[in-house]
Amino acid sequence: MSCQETTQSLSYYVDDELPPAQRTLVESHLDSCPVCRAELEQLRTLRNSLRQLARPEPPPVLIPAINDALMIEAAARRQSPTPNFREQLMSWIEPRLMPYTVGSLASVILFTAMLFGLRPHFIALREAARQTDSAVIIERWTPYDLTQPVTPEIYSARRAPFAEQSPSLNPGGALATLTGNYAQPRIGPFQEGDDMIVVADVFSNGTASLADVVQAPRDRQMLADFEVALRQSTAFVPASLDRRPDTMRVVFTVQKVDVRDRSF
Ligand SMILES: [Zn+2]
Repeated sequence: MSCQETTQSLSYYVDDELPPAQRTLVESHLDSCPVCRAELEQLRTLRNSLRQLARPEPPPVLIPAINDALMIEAAARRQSPTPNFREQLMSWIEPRLMPYTVGSLASVILFTAMLFGLRPHFIALREAARQTDSAVIIERWTPYDLTQPVTPEIYSARRAPFAEQSPSLNPGGALATLTGNYAQPRIGPFQEGDDMIVVADVFSNGTASLADVVQAPRDRQMLADFEVALRQSTAFVPASLDRRPDTMRVVFTVQKVDVRDRSF
């Protein structure tokens, strides 16, 4: 250990605050270094003389002066009027009520801010609700009459929001009849899950032609029936009823789902 390190540790050494390992190092250096020993002696002398300094006595008038001041203060408190009930209640409530007040105010501000933030959404929702209402009104004008066949006009009108993008089936067409047949319970290969994805072009007069077979069904007859149904009669309602473009390419996915529950 160097002289510098020892000197820095001397104060702690005198106070007996060094960890044992450090203490041993300091002691072994002190044994071999007269300079640091002299330093240690000086430090000890200084400490001792500081310890021996007389305690300064407070001036004799200090204690009576403090006592007098306290007595005057106490007398002044006794003479001041006691606060009435309302003031006492307020002083009790205030610190308790304050956090709630701030919290409530923050909630109100937050709620108002949210309301303003969501206002456009509310307006959009109301608009949507209004449109739904008008759609319902249209339906009321053309109620289902179960005794009458569904006309292309009624069917197209019912699909109004979607018909622009997906052509409405001609209710009397062969394709509608065919898809209706799919829904019937069948015996044989039709009962298995057999999916088919085909692309067809639909023209303005409602006719359509098969453009592509994306996924052929395992039952080839299913595809053949479908193609015949497309060609045979106008599979779709005229483009003017749907307000759809004159030529459209549509994707058909015929997916068979085995519904076991027949209670409906
Ligand atoms: Zn030394």
